[in-house]
Amino acid sequence: MTQSAGQNETVVLLVEDDRDDFFLTQDVLQCVPNHKYSVVWAGSYERAAFELLERPYDVALVDYRIGERTGLEFISEAQRRFPDTPMILLTGVIDPHIDRAAEEAGAADFLEKGAITPELLDRSIRYAIKHARRRAILDAVLSNSAAGIVALDRSGAPVLWNKQALRALAVDCDAAGSVASAVVSSGLTKIGSSGRLPAQFSAPSGEVYETSIGTVPSHGEVIVFHDITHRIRAEELLRKSVAEAEAANMAKSSFLATMSHELRTPMNGILGMARVLSNTPLDHEQGAYLDTIRVSGESLLGIINDVLDLSKIESGHMEIEDVEYRVGDLAQEVTTLLAPTARAKGIDLAAFVDPQLASTMRGDPLRVRQILTNLIGNAIKFTEDGGVSLWIDRVESDGLPRLRIRVSDTGIGIPENKRERLFKRFSQVDTSTTRTHGGTGLGLALCREFVSLMNGQIDCESALGHGSTFVVTLPLVEVGAAADRARARQLTGWRLALIGREGPLANVVRSYAASSGATMDLLACGPNVLNRLGPTSTTAIIIDCSAGQSNRDEMVRMIAAGPSMQSVPFFVIADTVADAGGIDIEPDLLLSRPFGQQSFERICNRLRRRSSTTGARPAVVAKAIPPRHLRVLFAEDNEPNQRVAKAILRGAGYSIDVAANGHKAIELVGQKPYDVVLMDVNMPSMDGLEATQLIRQTDAGRVLPIIGLTASVMDGDRQRCLEAGMNDHLAKPIDWDTLIALLNRMESEVYGAQALAS
Ligand code: ADP
Repeated sequence: MTQSAGQNETVVLLVEDDRDDFFLTQDVLQCVPNHKYSVVWAGSYERAAFELLERPYDVALVDYRIGERTGLEFISEAQRRFPDTPMILLTGVIDPHIDRAAEEAGAADFLEKGAITPELLDRSIRYAIKHARRRAILDAVLSNSAAGIVALDRSGAPVLWNKQALRALAVDCDAAGSVASAVVSSGLTKIGSSGRLPAQFSAPSGEVYETSIGTVPSHGEVIVFHDITHRIRAEELLRKSVAEAEAANMAKSSFLATMSHELRTPMNGILGMARVLSNTPLDHEQGAYLDTIRVSGESLLGIINDVLDLSKIESGHMEIEDVEYRVGDLAQEVTTLLAPTARAKGIDLAAFVDPQLASTMRGDPLRVRQILTNLIGNAIKFTEDGGVSLWIDRVESDGLPRLRIRVSDTGIGIPENKRERLFKRFSQVDTSTTRTHGGTGLGLALCREFVSLMNGQIDCESALGHGSTFVVTLPLVEVGAAADRARARQLTGWRLALIGREGPLANVVRSYAASSGATMDLLACGPNVLNRLGPTSTTAIIIDCSAGQSNRDEMVRMIAAGPSMQSVPFFVIADTVADAGGIDIEPDLLLSRPFGQQSFERICNRLRRRSSTTGARPAVVAKAIPPRHLRVLFAEDNEPNQRVAKAILRGAGYSIDVAANGHKAIELVGQKPYDVVLMDVNMPSMDGLEATQLIRQTDAGRVLPIIGLTASVMDGDRQRCLEAGMNDHLAKPIDWDTLIALLNRMESEVYGAQALAS
């Protein structure tokens, strides 16, 4: 069985001082069936010790007497030095004392020479070798284990341990390099208190150990000491680093919060003084400069406020309110505030607040307003055609009511692979848009923070090139729901005829109609709209002017004059009262943009009143101003100026379109037959001079009258206008009387005196 003697051979050291007994025992071993024993004889104590040093033996058979010394002595000494070699004691007599002493000395077995047979000796040797092997494996496991291990017998006395355990227990070996069980036991007692081992303890060497105990069924238990010093140090280090990072983050956030706060004070001064200054006499140029200061100041203040909000959230100072508020009012305020921006871009903005939703609810109106402003502001910013609509309704999820806010646009859309970046700070889908659209990339990040502070959710659906919808859902606590909902179906039986075009407004009116029990028909503007109207007994007409101011005015006049229309209530949607142009209409019937809850409630109130007082016809009177034929294009980038021109020229009966820059002016001239262009010289992206030169190169623009408008007081302006191909030049600020007189002259020249009179 040894390496030296081959696989199927067992090498036996026979320690025997009697030659005859040696041969006898050797003969017995030779008679073992099916196995080969090779026997080496050691006739003396010294010879036997020498042999063990010389080569490995599978087993040693040791006689009880070896000359003057005993086999017990030999076994005890040899076991200390060669613990892996099993030893069997052979005696001439059976004596229970010797048996016990052999076990204590470390013998694997004890046999009586006279009684041994080949089978008995073979079995004893096999068992001894097997046992020794197991023991060798156990020793290797113990000494190679990272953990300290102590095995206790049933009485709790240590029977087995390794070096690591001794280190954990601070137990030293004696001079002979061994440790007594009692010493290990006292080491265990020292670390435990009241007889119980601690779950964790620090050794005198500084290491920290965790203890675990396993039972050895019906034999005792095994105590394991795990060295967790590194883990404990790493955890301490991590805790310290986290605390330091948190402190640094707090310091950064509170620095940002303080800075933003400090910056707001001078900004308020700048904006406040700009407002005061705007109320003093200023010439046009100064007014424009002041406008730039105000717009830049407001945008800077917006950024500062966003940064302040973010740093407040980070430093844990953002508190969410829980007060009563009306989401319908918020929607109205925000859309009204943003309506001029939408109007300036020529896109629709409309809002639907589901009447099924209680008008009053609990929450944080300030944060909801910020979310609405951000989402609607973005939607307008990234939409060039079509429009933006806001939808607020009530949904249920997991059996709980939720407030759902959706902002839809028909804008540029967001590519799918960029959507997950949307809500990250300072992140923009296309950074090049910053130049055209402005923005910091903070708005959506803030929205997400607010929504999550309110335990809600924000998502985005989008189709590239077709538009986006941002959806926010928040927990909903309604106040007085039942009373509100009772009012919901108040227009049952009515038909709303919307004269206009498909888009956000039509969708919103349709939803309001459906929610209140009415129906809606959409009729395109046109001279024969009355023929398409059908029966009118339960019809109310809503005229949308976005399809074109002149169409709107024509529609109103036509309906006012229609003989069968006398009892049909109608409403006009206009940007502002001033925008109602040539129509004198009861204020009640004028619905200002953006169309929303308020506009719809007006319709409801009016129709309900009408139902109770049958036949009352709304007063619509066309003003005495005759409609003009001259079609005017007004190219000007300044929005207030555009508004003034529209109000004044429409009031004078002219139909007017507006272009915000030279490119747009060229585009419109190619699309519509204008009779005159009023062209501001200074406009962004393409100025009036360049636009005139390009218009002159087109068929439609070769002879088109173009009048330049400049605010500049420089000599030679008129000359530059004429050189660029303009017909005339007017100085800004415009003298409207002079301009109207000029247009009237052109009207009579182009359309004749008859036209003017009609
Ligand atoms: P910003 O101040 O740049 O608008 P936001 O966080 O509000 O910052 O928006 C981040 C980016 O998300 C925008 O720059 C834009 O690229 C994209 N985005 C947001 N809303 C829309 C939308 N309605 N349509 C298309 N892109 C949008």
